[in-house]
Amino acid sequence: MGVLAVYGVPRASTLIYYGLHNLQHRGQEGGGIITFDQKGYPHEYRGQGLLSEIFTNGELDHLPGTMGIGSVKYANASKGGLHNVEPLFFYHQSGDFAIAGEGNLINARQVSEYLERHGSIFQTNTDSELLAHLIKKGREEDRIHKIVKALNMVEGGFTFVIMTKNRIYACRDKYGIKPLCIGRMPDGGFVVSSESCAFEIMGAEFIRDVTPGEIVSLDHHGIRSTLYSHFNRHRMCAMEYIYFARPDSDIDGCNVHAYRKEAGRRLYRECPVEADMVVGVPESSLSAAMGYAEESGIPYEMGLVKHKYVGRTFIEPVQSVRELGVKMKLSPVRSIVNGKRIVLVDDSIVRGTTSLKIVKLLREAGATEVHVRIASPMMRFTCHYGVDTSTPEELLCSHRTLEEARQAIGADSLGYLSPESTRDSCFGCADPCQACFTGEYPTLLYDELVEND
Ligand code: SF4
Repeated sequence: MGVLAVYGVPRASTLIYYGLHNLQHRGQEGGGIITFDQKGYPHEYRGQGLLSEIFTNGELDHLPGTMGIGSVKYANASKGGLHNVEPLFFYHQSGDFAIAGEGNLINARQVSEYLERHGSIFQTNTDSELLAHLIKKGREEDRIHKIVKALNMVEGGFTFVIMTKNRIYACRDKYGIKPLCIGRMPDGGFVVSSESCAFEIMGAEFIRDVTPGEIVSLDHHGIRSTLYSHFNRHRMCAMEYIYFARPDSDIDGCNVHAYRKEAGRRLYRECPVEADMVVGVPESSLSAAMGYAEESGIPYEMGLVKHKYVGRTFIEPVQSVRELGVKMKLSPVRSIVNGKRIVLVDDSIVRGTTSLKIVKLLREAGATEVHVRIASPMMRFTCHYGVDTSTPEELLCSHRTLEEARQAIGADSLGYLSPESTRDSCFGCADPCQACFTGEYPTLLYDELVEND
């Protein structure tokens, strides 16, 4: 998912719409925008599908105001449906507010049980609604103190943007697992986004990342900072660098393209192979493939072409749709790969569906050898922070050795980047979460602990 907020800008909804387009890679199943107009009345529009399918009929004209928040959504099977598309709006006597979030609360079950015991009933199964109920329950005078208290009752990897009639709050989890950054508009006003790549199209200038455990308040006073927790870590999700984020984003001081290229260089040093060309799997693996080619001296070639307008297979919620997506999205360039030994560089292998298909496509197009090199470690564990990496049973490597994984995808050889190089490709600016590779989670895992009691 991706979140975006704008404060103090004319036609905020239009700006949010364009910004969300640059976050569309983070979710294609739904999106929405809520604004407050000058009189303090809320206006909202949400829908399912791509933004271009949702905002088709002048809806932005009915979202007036100089402040607003927006979201694009991807959903796992249990969190689909229009009712789960954010932002959500809540009426309350202490002040109405809107909220949109990203990530996952690992103690969501405990929080919802607590809230239900105290009379709450829910209209969605989003973490944003849980946080909204916690905020509403707070007896503190000020909104910021209610938010501080609510955030201290939840654990996980998350970001939230919360909008009242006169202020926006941008919140980031204390482990720093999810990205969130702030930008400034040229004529005043502020922007908050999951990724800095949204700023370019909005004409905003990057100011800084929201710090882990921080709430940034944006209003007529400008930017103010409150730490909701003094426990804070820089455990950014490694998969943001490896796969999710756009290459033109900077996250916690590290450019995503630069990260991937460095990972590709290290991948060659750790897993060299003799071949005639390096081919990257478009789009998210191209930077790593460039790095591999540079370091090895093997020419980089465009051996695969991506069909545009087909969604990412990894974040489609249903297996049948994912498999159809793989078939539709890539074509080998026969005249380039025919008779050649190929190093196929990919960013990660989740279920292995795509890798098996691509290796087969390249062989059918005449490749004599296909050596697969993965610019991340073997994915063996479930993510508990909102990335739909599947259950352990579905993961290719959760129950296979390297050799078994090679056989399963039909490659001539298979090599993975080490966790050490995955960390060091950040150029020392972060010690990223790698729990889906190593099983070492940066947080407690509440549900598992409770179930094991
Ligand atoms: S477990 Fe993996 S996907 Fe989840 S936050 Fe950590 S690195 Fe990212």
